[in-house]
Amino acid sequence: MIDREAAAAAPLTGWLAELEARLRAGGRLQVDEAARLWSEAPDAALQALAAVVRGRFHAPDAATYLKMAIVNYTNVCVARCDYCAFYRFPDAPDTYLLSFEEVCARIDRLLAHGGTMVGFNGGFHPGLDIDHYIRLFTQVRARYPEVSFYEMTVAEFMFVAKRQKLSYDEAAARFAATGTRWITGGGAEILDDRFRLRHSPGKYKVEDYLDAQRAILDAGMGSTGTMVIGFDEPLDERLAHIDRLRRFQDEQRGRLSSFLCWTFKPYHTELGGSELPLQEYLRWLAICRIFLDNFEHIRTSVLTRNEAALLGLRYGADDFDLPTEDEVTQKAGATISHDFDGVLAAGRALGFRLEYRAPFAPWSEVQP
Ligand code: SF4
Repeated sequence: MIDREAAAAAPLTGWLAELEARLRAGGRLQVDEAARLWSEAPDAALQALAAVVRGRFHAPDAATYLKMAIVNYTNVCVARCDYCAFYRFPDAPDTYLLSFEEVCARIDRLLAHGGTMVGFNGGFHPGLDIDHYIRLFTQVRARYPEVSFYEMTVAEFMFVAKRQKLSYDEAAARFAATGTRWITGGGAEILDDRFRLRHSPGKYKVEDYLDAQRAILDAGMGSTGTMVIGFDEPLDERLAHIDRLRRFQDEQRGRLSSFLCWTFKPYHTELGGSELPLQEYLRWLAICRIFLDNFEHIRTSVLTRNEAALLGLRYGADDFDLPTEDEVTQKAGATISHDFDGVLAAGRALGFRLEYRAPFAPWSEVQP
């Protein structure tokens, strides 16, 4: 029983015990309390508090996963994020745009690994219009009915909608009407305009991003919450991110299906720097679980932390994916292991029952 282990290791006293009692009664963590937890709470206390909120949704030793590939259909991008090692400007000599058959070859590789989900992720390609995306998504769904697709990210959706001078509602309606089920919350990084101005001023402003995500959800498609940490963001920017996201999820009555936090890979990027220590990632994961109490699923990132990410299950996470490929993070230093059994063994050694799960369904397909 993971939560009892954590609690036994760090019996809570004082304000932590009061907070635990409030969380057990269904209460909420406030932003100033999250800041205090971050700076003062021992690791074991964070685990114990995260276990309380996790326990509202999941058995203490239960966790789920699936195998997925990120298919990077193009590396052409005009957004110029300084934390990205993947993109190439349109006139660079080493740009690419995968053909349909090349996309299928990537999906075939996933199937050879026993995977069941594909997430498409490219860049802000100025030559691709909405019909290109719709044609690609329609064709791959027809060829691979057994595979689930995260068709694109909110950031890519925003770019293609703006490029064609469509409102987000109009663009979302076109995708939904042609069978797109998911436009996930990728590209969120840190949802704070100070961060955005420093590192990707051409990408979006936070309220614009949320307007786009609102339109996607209103059209009946699914979406997710995401976050990336470990750039140069101070604590208040991280807190602003989870605060804005929790308020959005409240407004949306829980329509975002999951929240995933991963860590910045700095290698070969303009921003550079060093990787976030594992313990900082785990502690932040616990803060996310405690604060984001309106997300049933909090996911830990094998993509950027390899098997050590499974420790995140002790810090409030309940789900993860086993990635088979993702050029974006690999270009920035991520190493993807295909020793899936080894990763799963690490989770089981921690005392978790790991079950391969079916893909989540968008909110509009879930019966109330
Ligand atoms: S992170 Fe995405 S939007 Fe930013 S430069 Fe890279 S590919 Fe483009």
